[in-house]
Amino acid sequence: MDQTDVAANALAVLNSVFGLPAFRGPQEDIVMHLAGGGNCLVLMPTGGGKSLCYQLPSLLRDGCGIVVSPLIALMRDQVAGLLEVGVKAAVLNSSLSFEEANAVEQRLLAGDLDLLYVAPERLLTPRCLGLLARAKLALFAIDEAHCVSQWGHDFRPEYIGLSVLAERFPNVPRIALTATADDLTRQEIIDRLGLDGAPSFVASFDRPNIRYEIVDKQNAKTQLEAFISQRHAGDAGIVYCLSRNKVEETAAALTKAGIPALPYHAGLDAAVRARHQDRFINEDGIVIVATIAFGMGIDKPDVRFVAHLDLPKSIEAYYQETGRAGRDGKPSDAWMAYGLADIVQQRRMIDDSNGSDAFKRVSIGKLDALVALAETAGCRRTRLLRYFGEAVADHNHKCGNCDNCLSPPNVRDGTVLAQKLLSCAYRTGQRFGAMHLIDVLIGRATERVKQFRHDQLSVYGIGADLNEKQWRAVVRQVVAQGHLQADSEAFGALKLTETARGVLKGETEVMLREETAGSSAHRGSKSKSKRGAAPSSPDTAGHAKHSGLLAALRAWRSETARKRGVPAYVVLHDATLDGIAAERPASLNQLRNISGIGDKKLEHYGDALLALVASSGD
Ligand code: ADP
Ligand code: ZN
Repeated sequence: MDQTDVAANALAVLNSVFGLPAFRGPQEDIVMHLAGGGNCLVLMPTGGGKSLCYQLPSLLRDGCGIVVSPLIALMRDQVAGLLEVGVKAAVLNSSLSFEEANAVEQRLLAGDLDLLYVAPERLLTPRCLGLLARAKLALFAIDEAHCVSQWGHDFRPEYIGLSVLAERFPNVPRIALTATADDLTRQEIIDRLGLDGAPSFVASFDRPNIRYEIVDKQNAKTQLEAFISQRHAGDAGIVYCLSRNKVEETAAALTKAGIPALPYHAGLDAAVRARHQDRFINEDGIVIVATIAFGMGIDKPDVRFVAHLDLPKSIEAYYQETGRAGRDGKPSDAWMAYGLADIVQQRRMIDDSNGSDAFKRVSIGKLDALVALAETAGCRRTRLLRYFGEAVADHNHKCGNCDNCLSPPNVRDGTVLAQKLLSCAYRTGQRFGAMHLIDVLIGRATERVKQFRHDQLSVYGIGADLNEKQWRAVVRQVVAQGHLQADSEAFGALKLTETARGVLKGETEVMLREETAGSSAHRGSKSKSKRGAAPSSPDTAGHAKHSGLLAALRAWRSETARKRGVPAYVVLHDATLDGIAAERPASLNQLRNISGIGDKKLEHYGDALLALVASSGD
């Protein structure tokens, strides 16, 4: 077959099997490259469409595609989805009995599988490598390839062993896929997986349907409850916290507020964890409150929001976690509440870790980049994309779908405020945390202030024109800009840095976001009305969403998913239901033209769907 034939064939399979009308971004080039036997590295954001890049070539090439993936839940759901569209797929992992595993192995040898998902530790056993050597293989796909990187945030020692693939199977094409794109990680993937000289395909990292918003942390739980009940009543979402305790507390608080929330963290019994994850995937509108252990390898397409109550470690982690929202392309929110204590806490975790100095330096650099994102007055998306090396027209580009673009904060000269704060830290001996410094600045004669005679200092009360909240924002920004630093020896104590001198002398200007002058509440209400999300009870929101035909389609989908024992989205995606409700197809042909309906889905569900359309009046 020549190139044009392969391309036509690829498109035909995309359409008939996956029910999709066109490739997205670099998918077509990747598919063609692999189909032709080449190796490659794919960098694509979460939700970008990585799976298709290896699933489709596995169907186009002779033999079985072997997918290495770290998480059992992902394998299970991908296989369920593939079986739905008629692809012969299976898994080999620790969840199988000996007999089940044996049957899968026999099918592989008999050439009866298109795709086989294998856990890395399983793949590396002599038994499995021997098995693969006797089978006809289409390709190796190494998913979540950044797990080979010791610099990354998901390092998995068993991934290191995957270098054996290049050595043992030099003629089987390899595709490594990841959503983590920094240069260090990229180079390590190339080295370890033997991809030297192979092309990298880089998709745009933009996720236009995700709205980024970072708010000043006041009372995180109340803020979170308001965010969910006002903007995401009835929606599925993920809330990230750093500690197990906080996960438990937050889940309990949400439940008490009437929001169906479940905790997920490594300290929970494995069975409980699995049950919570299953409910999140299979039921509508569950909020999962989790440590970062949750989410990798979960393909749920209709997660409507990701909320962070604690600062992640890096922009990479933030982007990967927020990327779990809105894979289906529908509007979704990435919301984070952040405060000074978060910077202090993350800094301390780095300082206290037993990593090398080089590791600590890299980690601090990554944290600083994230803090700068949180403090920027400019477009958050532009900042994120530039971080991932994507050329954005200009610095001042406005995406129109982040908090700063939707209601731009004013920036003003805060040099005098910064000087007051720095002097206060200096005069009190650089031994106190933010709270005490603010008490002194405002002129509050607390026990502590009196004990240390700080009410006698010249800086006492010099900041009485701002309130506590405003001062907190100033402190945060001055720390974020690097003029004050949390002392890792004395918990929370703020010390002056080298650059503080320039500020005190008036040589360095300090620009501060206007919201520090107390406009943040106003900002909040303004952006709320702009998005037209007036506080709505779960009832009315639910009603608008599920009216008429769409409600009937959803009910049918829930029932079908339950009967077949698969997640609802494996039956049909929200976007496909929306398409049917909008187009109201009257024939199988018309139905077939809706994105997400391939041959098998048409065969299985066509008549039922047409009947629903015909019997619905609206
Ligand atoms: P990733 O693994 O990169 O996070 P997935 O492979 O899970 O992303 O794909 C994300 C979503 O995009 C899925 O719902 C998938 O069906 C959809 N998708 C992928 N490719 C296309 C395409 N060419 N056209 C339409 N939808 C697509
Ligand atoms: Zn923006």
